[in-house]
Amino acid sequence: MSIAGKNMFADVIVDISHKSIDRAFCYRIPDEVKDQVGIGSKVRIPFGNGNKERCGYIIAISDNPTDEIDASRIKDILGPAEKSFTAEENLIALAAFIREQYGSTMITALNTVLPVKKVIQKKENRTIVSKVPVLTIEQGIELAEKKKQRAKVRLLRELLGNERISYSLVTGKLNVSAPTIKSLEKEGFLTIEVTEREDIPFGFRALSEERPKLSDEQEYIVSEIQKDRKNGICGQYFIYGITGSGKTEVYMQLIENCLKEGKEAILLIPEISLTYQNLLRFYRRFGNKVSVVHSKLSDGEKYEQFRKAKEGEISIMIGPRSALFTPFQNLGMIIIDEEHENSYKSETTPKYHAREVAYKLGEIANAPVVLGSATPSLESFYRVRKGELREFRLTKRLTGGTLPEVSIVDMKEELAAGNKTVFSKKLKSLMEDRLEKGEQIMLFLNRRGYSGSVLCRECGEIIKCPHCDISLSEHRGGTLMCHYCGYSTGMVKKCPKCGSTKIAGFRAGTEQIEESIHKMFPQAVVLRMDADTTKKSEDYEAILSKFAAREADILLGTQMIVKGHDFKGVTLMGILLADMSLGSNDYRAAERTFQLLTQAAGRAGRGDMPGETVIQTYQPDHYAITYAASQDYEGFYEEEIAYREFMEYPPAGHMLCVQFFGPDWTRLSRLSIGMTNEVKEKLDGFEELGIKQIGPGKAALGKKQDIYRQVVYYKHPTKEALIRIKDYMEKRMTEISVLKEQIQFDFDPMNTF
Ligand code: ADP
Ligand code: ZN
Ligand code: ZN
Repeated sequence: MSIAGKNMFADVIVDISHKSIDRAFCYRIPDEVKDQVGIGSKVRIPFGNGNKERCGYIIAISDNPTDEIDASRIKDILGPAEKSFTAEENLIALAAFIREQYGSTMITALNTVLPVKKVIQKKENRTIVSKVPVLTIEQGIELAEKKKQRAKVRLLRELLGNERISYSLVTGKLNVSAPTIKSLEKEGFLTIEVTEREDIPFGFRALSEERPKLSDEQEYIVSEIQKDRKNGICGQYFIYGITGSGKTEVYMQLIENCLKEGKEAILLIPEISLTYQNLLRFYRRFGNKVSVVHSKLSDGEKYEQFRKAKEGEISIMIGPRSALFTPFQNLGMIIIDEEHENSYKSETTPKYHAREVAYKLGEIANAPVVLGSATPSLESFYRVRKGELREFRLTKRLTGGTLPEVSIVDMKEELAAGNKTVFSKKLKSLMEDRLEKGEQIMLFLNRRGYSGSVLCRECGEIIKCPHCDISLSEHRGGTLMCHYCGYSTGMVKKCPKCGSTKIAGFRAGTEQIEESIHKMFPQAVVLRMDADTTKKSEDYEAILSKFAAREADILLGTQMIVKGHDFKGVTLMGILLADMSLGSNDYRAAERTFQLLTQAAGRAGRGDMPGETVIQTYQPDHYAITYAASQDYEGFYEEEIAYREFMEYPPAGHMLCVQFFGPDWTRLSRLSIGMTNEVKEKLDGFEELGIKQIGPGKAALGKKQDIYRQVVYYKHPTKEALIRIKDYMEKRMTEISVLKEQIQFDFDPMNTF
């Protein structure tokens, strides 16, 4: 065995268009190629028994071979391969970044980033076409009647009148089975014609030449970004403007400029906003250059869209966070609309945030990144303030209409006055008024995060953890628990603030509210939108378009109704239980509440008639509520960032949540305690750097499907310090013998566990 020189080894994946990537092979990197390769490089390797030359990608480099095979049997990399396309290399580099930043194996990261190759099942339209003269059909009917073949008779009768009938109509409405159709085909009465269905709604291949003349504010943004591009500056920008202020129009112009230079663009839009109406604008402007990916596509369909992108058949990809991984060869721009949306964070390992990955992709591909929002995430505005994002503002609403008049109703006073219903006197009388006038009403039930938080119905006090400034949640059996530190106490009987005994976990659902509306206003037509009424993918749009067509007076729903459409007929917005999302047990509760309320409040008065919004709350003085009522983002930001800075919560600092999973409680707690102690003792710099540790303790959801969960939080001003903890634990998990225990990492979590 040679001891001279340091051997370097590489993990190489051989075929990245394989069904799924499951295995890497270990190769030695010979000295003469060391300088020419790195992670993500495409290399030539001998493969298989015949040592046939093939191409592969390096996904990891180390001093020791990772394969447990005899070192002498490890083959050498032949050399770097010719660069054919950069798309894959960019994505592999991105996977390496994701692996490092969020924690997972390289294989998992690659499978997140690279499309799975699957054969697409062509969508087809089938038509039944009559092949014989009418006289013959009549004979056929006679014969079938004698034989009592009723289905055959039905279909043949239909063919007398129509030469062509859609297949699905025949099997559906006429209730004729496939074998019957087949047998008529055999007898020569008919043929089945198959045509391919189009991906893109037809008719938009002819592009619309019309575009509005950009306003001065819009023009300024487009030209400044263009100027940077000309000067080779690959910037990061933030467009801050309320809904209807013309952000999308700016995106479209930016994309058009990009296409003119022969480059491609990715536009991220949250899944819930990928409505037909919104997409139509892009189809009209860019025709079949546009493709869309979303969660309802099959793997095959998704792969097909990515293939088109790779081969240059399309130049614009629109979709939720996974659209980021479109393998464009020549990416020229990344745009993230509604950048504050939580859905940009992945909830499965690797738990990456699309915004952060987009910055990285922009860097790798040398493409500018543009973010837009009406209610910026604290993260983004923090970057704006630090000068890391260049801010542009759109200050005018172009859709007409005026901002609604917003009032806050204190529900504690309603209760004191004997009103025990969900509707305040004010909201009820405004509803009466609108129903009389035939104007529309939206009611938003802010239900998110209500699960389990407990409040005083007399003074609005939410019961909080004495150590963490986070509300306690009610667990089965009546104990209250803190999800951050594990503090627990019995059910509070008396309000710590006012002494009242009217303390309860608040529960109210859309269904109950719908019932009470029916009782109050029996004549009103109500549409309800929540998880139950939108199970099928069409349901959501169906409800929206019904309401837009004014087929109902009231649209009642959860946060789904807050996003998306403009309804010109709506002149009243009622927000029920506005503080419910404040009670949720994590540090982002105020931000989430502010965003939701601001969006909801702005829903009324989009048409010619002025609108009014009523916010019902138990905490009329809470800053998230008062600033939402005055639509004052910056006021809210100042207050919220002061809180985050004081508590060292993101974005003022970084936070790592480590979750431990396992079927045996004793083993699991031993693992979580052992691991965290070890990190504290052995990780260089843990003490000196001042890393803060909270926990370990039982997770909020302490057990799910017989798997126990433990959780520990770390806080530090830098992410690097936390990444070191992750790396240490990841490594230790491969070394110690764990039976069924698992560990997951979540940086700057959106929810706490
Ligand atoms: P946002 O994305 O900020 O909600 P949009 O780009 O959708 O705003 O613009 C809102 C409406 O105003 C759209 O109907 C759009 O067609 C229209 N609009 C945008 N820019 C202009 C402009 N410069 N002139 C006229 N109408 C415009
Ligand atoms: Zn109280
Ligand atoms: Zn606590």
